[in-house]
Amino acid sequence: MKPHMLVLAAGLLFAAIPAGHAAEKAAAKVADHPATQSAAQPSAAGVYRFAVGDLRVTALSDGTLPLGIKPLVQGLPPERIDALLAERFERDPLETSINAFLIDAGPRLLLVDTGAGQLFGPYGGKLPASLAAAGYRPDQVTDILLTHIHTDHSGGLALDGRMAFPNATVHVGQADIDFFLDRANLARGLEPRLHDEAVATVGPYLKAGKVKPFAEQSEILPGVTAIPTPGHTPGHAFYRVASRGETIEFWGDIIHVGPVQFPHPDATVAFDIDQDAARAQRLKRFAQEADSGQLTAAAHLGFPGLGRLRRDGEAYRWVPVEYRNRE
Ligand SMILES: [Zn+2]
Repeated sequence: MKPHMLVLAAGLLFAAIPAGHAAEKAAAKVADHPATQSAAQPSAAGVYRFAVGDLRVTALSDGTLPLGIKPLVQGLPPERIDALLAERFERDPLETSINAFLIDAGPRLLLVDTGAGQLFGPYGGKLPASLAAAGYRPDQVTDILLTHIHTDHSGGLALDGRMAFPNATVHVGQADIDFFLDRANLARGLEPRLHDEAVATVGPYLKAGKVKPFAEQSEILPGVTAIPTPGHTPGHAFYRVASRGETIEFWGDIIHVGPVQFPHPDATVAFDIDQDAARAQRLKRFAQEADSGQLTAAAHLGFPGLGRLRRDGEAYRWVPVEYRNRE
């Protein structure tokens, strides 16, 4: 997603919601009777652990945000969007997840995307807490697999201007480095804010010689294949990770709004830099993957963002994984 649009959209929608008097009263009541408070903490860190072959994989929530869908989705009438949301008992703005994923591969610890860091105002930025709750430290991460350079994916690379993952090498599509880090592209449609945020977050790793870009589909680490899927951004990529015959694919932003874009895979979002390429890429990948049973991890589907794709006529259905809570 493009951060400023996202925050702007969410902020506008928030401004339209009157302050919750009932919630304020409830809060006052609790404060009046502190002895009745339990030791409950604010919403727990989002951590969901599962296995892929020998790998221990953990979905990590960076948070959620209320995303204004009607200004975002391109190519569908607002009534249709409302109807699709209503089918799911949802409405605009849609609470939207920011998911990252940690892959414990023994000597290596891989992180797919890094959340928004400090750059999304009141939203996002929970990845460090989720990582800690999962039992890991940022300095243990050896490799970061960026699906693309947008702030809700690369924003967590830096905290307070410093590398948040001091021992990590960043893997990312060369075309995203070329586009987002080059000021010359301001004349070719790159928004200044996205450039500045890319410099602030990817820049420290570039300076330290810790960025390994790829331009073509290739095995960038043992069992880890980078698959360029340009459209949403020029260097957008999937990552396929395999262990003992099992695979998982990390899909980044090929899909943003599940309730709308699975039934209408031709609908794009305003965050797609190349609308036509993003649409074509989604149609191609969905057609390839549907009914394959491929375990897939998506950045913005409801946490943990894990599931498989079914074909449904011209449309698609997302089948989330069953919840599992045992070793
Ligand atoms: Zn995104």
